[in-house]
Amino acid sequence: MNNSGYFIRWFFEAYFWYIVTIAVLYLIIHILIAKSFESYADDKGYNGSKIFWVCFFLMPLGIAMAIAMPDKKTREIIQKLDFSQRKKEEKTEEKSLKCRYCGTPLKKNAKYCVKCGNMVE
Ligand SMILES: [Zn+2]
Repeated sequence: MNNSGYFIRWFFEAYFWYIVTIAVLYLIIHILIAKSFESYADDKGYNGSKIFWVCFFLMPLGIAMAIAMPDKKTREIIQKLDFSQRKKEEKTEEKSLKCRYCGTPLKKNAKYCVKCGNMVE
């Protein structure tokens, strides 16, 4: 009788530590996943720590939020690139306004070249 009581106690103790270990491991993995989505949101240009806590308490919602977020940073970069490209185009347009005969840069809407006097088409 004494022996089996000892065994049962040992069994439950072992089971308790098994549950604790699983819980701790699960928590660590949970935090790692939440952290990765935090940095993911940060990369998109959002407040990552917010996503971390949403992920921490409601993992599927946090993941869905992080994925559904429109990419702020990429959009900004695209807009900047687009803007600089437009500027370049404008510059090249201005540069192309040159006299056909002597190459003198012409003012906008000029009808005659200032240098050689030829008509500008
Ligand atoms: Zn000219």
